[in-house]
Amino acid sequence: MSDFDVVVVGAGAVGLACGYQLAKTGNSVLVLESANRIGAGVSSRNSEVVHAGFYYPSGSLKAKFCVEGRRAMYQFLADHNVAFQKCGKLFVATEESEIPPIEKYFKQGQINGVENARWISGAEARLLEPQLRCVRAVEYLESGVMDAHGYMDALEGEIEAHHGAVVLNSPFLGAAPTSEGYDIRVGGESPTTISARNLVISAGLSAQKCADAIEGFPKDRIPKQHLAKGNYFTISMKAPFARLIYPPPVPGALGTHYRRDLGGAARFGPDIEWITEENYVVDPKRAEEFYDAIRKFWPSLPDGALTADYAGIRPKIHAQNEPQPDFVLDSPEHHGMEGLICLFGIESPGLTSSLAIGAEVTRRLAV
Ligand SMILES: Cc1cc2nc3c(=O)[nH]c(=O)nc-3n(C[C@H](O)[C@H](O)[C@H](O)COP(=O)(O)OP(=O)(O)OC[C@H]3O[C@@H](n4cnc5c(N)ncnc54)[C@H](O)[C@@H]3O)c2cc1C
Repeated sequence: MSDFDVVVVGAGAVGLACGYQLAKTGNSVLVLESANRIGAGVSSRNSEVVHAGFYYPSGSLKAKFCVEGRRAMYQFLADHNVAFQKCGKLFVATEESEIPPIEKYFKQGQINGVENARWISGAEARLLEPQLRCVRAVEYLESGVMDAHGYMDALEGEIEAHHGAVVLNSPFLGAAPTSEGYDIRVGGESPTTISARNLVISAGLSAQKCADAIEGFPKDRIPKQHLAKGNYFTISMKAPFARLIYPPPVPGALGTHYRRDLGGAARFGPDIEWITEENYVVDPKRAEEFYDAIRKFWPSLPDGALTADYAGIRPKIHAQNEPQPDFVLDSPEHHGMEGLICLFGIESPGLTSSLAIGAEVTRRLAV
């Protein structure tokens, strides 16, 4: 008999959502977290935007999980009294040349099943947001902002309510397959070995390292890791817009956008900065590019208003000049090891998609 039906490595939004979906279906679940709190990784350094789901190619996991995950997310947040605002989003063309890319994404959204989207003129957009400058826009009513930490707290509560556990300061060190599943080495103050029938690696920026520590995991299935930092800037004045404001995406990212967070503060970003080592310092000099990008849609941004805020790092599995791939849920049919799923490249829209990823992991493990 194994100690657990499933061990999940990583208590970020995705690992906790996997833990929740697995525990809800009657499995005994343990979530291992190396840090001293949940959500210490990518999940605490993002935009907290609930994405509608129009950016992603037809048939991709990102398209499916973002749309399904968004619907499940709003329901979960409402059911658990976690703060969110379905504030809507304006996807703006600030000049005529930006209309075709937005049209392309609008059509993609229709294919992906995105509801409540419509084209509006620049004048209509200004009726909604008087300080906005654009020639046309698509309004998405299903986009919103959420409290990511409140969400993760609620997931942890649900795991515990279903007799599972989330243990902190407990790094996954490695695993070896057995006839019944996996022996899993756990570090920390009291290192130990536990057993589980199934193992899910949801370790964000450490996913590759964790997969590499599983005996027998084919090395050629571990995607090379790339790091793309996203920097944010803020202003200490009244937030200019109620809705999310997004320009067309740039290669590898969604473009420097605007959101009013749940506390009412205006935040701009993330941009994209390819780096080779993890660091979260925001270089104030990057403000120059932010002024240019923001003034395209908010011309009255005052000089000197932007201050450096925070940064997050996207767990990329593609290099700067390569196309952005889909989420990778490396499963037994791919790597040949029963009862094991390794998640790679869970960048945006990973937060929005988390409940759908958890449901898919549960389905694939057939537990
Ligand atoms: C700048 C930025 C903006 C984003 N904006 C959005 C957005 O607006 N909307 C959206 O939907 N998505 C967004 N995303 C994506 C989203 O934040 C991520 O997809 C999601 O948070 C990933 O969650 P995770 O659980 O996979 O990773 P993480 O949150 O990083 O969790 C992994 C966990 O594993 C733990 N861990 C690592 N190694 C070990 C080990 N050996 N043993 C045990 N535990 C370990 C880490 O400490 C961490 O807590 C954004 C991402 C970035 C970088």
